[in-house]
Amino acid sequence: DELISQIAAGEVVERPASVVRELVDNALDAGAHQITVRLLAGGVRLISVEDDGCGIPPEELPVALRRHATSKVRDLHELESVTTMGFRGEALAAVASVSQTSILSRTADADSAWLLDAHSGELRRAARAQGTTLEVKELFFSTPARRKFLKTDATELAHCIESVRRHALARPDVGFAIWHEGKLVEQWRALPPDTERSQALARRLADVLGQDFVDQSLPVERVFHNGAITVYGRAGLPDAARNRGDQQYSYVNGRFVRDKVISHAAKAAYEDVLHGHKQPVYALYIEIDPLRVDVNVHPTKIEVRFRDSREVHQAVKHAVEDALAVPRA
Ligand code: ADP
Ligand code: MG
Repeated sequence: DELISQIAAGEVVERPASVVRELVDNALDAGAHQITVRLLAGGVRLISVEDDGCGIPPEELPVALRRHATSKVRDLHELESVTTMGFRGEALAAVASVSQTSILSRTADADSAWLLDAHSGELRRAARAQGTTLEVKELFFSTPARRKFLKTDATELAHCIESVRRHALARPDVGFAIWHEGKLVEQWRALPPDTERSQALARRLADVLGQDFVDQSLPVERVFHNGAITVYGRAGLPDAARNRGDQQYSYVNGRFVRDKVISHAAKAAYEDVLHGHKQPVYALYIEIDPLRVDVNVHPTKIEVRFRDSREVHQAVKHAVEDALAVPRA
């Protein structure tokens, strides 16, 4: 089983940033309002993710590390309309198989926190406020071949920050902080939950990507098919386009995705206003009836499959064209 977990880890855990992604996913699923990520050596020596979510009761701590153990999906039917970030129950098992992992957690009604060391299996009482701290040390220590493929600490750190950035852009209502080697490197404060959506998004985009991103973009907001598909966010002005496509963020039901249908549709909307090799910048959020999309395509869930990709393509293209006030042929 150890070997199977390590093989699965190859699909889920590529580098420290993949661990960060999975742990932050879990913190969000746990209902966290504040998430703190602490890293040493670009995350290779330590990744610690602290949340103030629901916590894990001590008897479930060992279960959380087991393969295919998930508390989020009870049957195949639920898998059709999954709304949590995680649902495969693979991430923690995979991470634990290639690192020294520990979980410190406390639920609301517990009289103390509990600490589980994944390697020794030792479970003991510890101190902590409600929530969970996942510590992942010495990533790939047992698989030196994988460790060799890691880049410099600075590069791995940049990937870790990008991973948190992707989450942060989806959740303006959650506060995020990233520490590296004991120094605070990024901090994005939570916006009050009653902040109007486009306002909250603009504030968070300004915090994370810079005020320029907001100043040089237009709001996108359109509803299609009686609410089955909503596209909102911000589309950069043609002048804000860049030579690199590094400010193209797209989300499906709150999940960061890389998707050709979406990127092609966005690009198509700029067809008449962008020339040469310029890439548009955008942050686009697609809310779609879960039955119209399959997120269980890839272990990292970064890819999705739409039931009807034409309708999604059209929705994204039209929403962006409207924002840019591009006349439609
Ligand atoms: P999945 O997220 O797909 O369910 P994971 O391997 O990522 O699988 O996590 C396994 C289980 O551990 C989750 O289903 C959840 O019950 C629990 N868990 C993990 N991280 C946290 C957290 N930060 N807070 C509360 N529960 C957590
Ligand atoms: Mg998970």
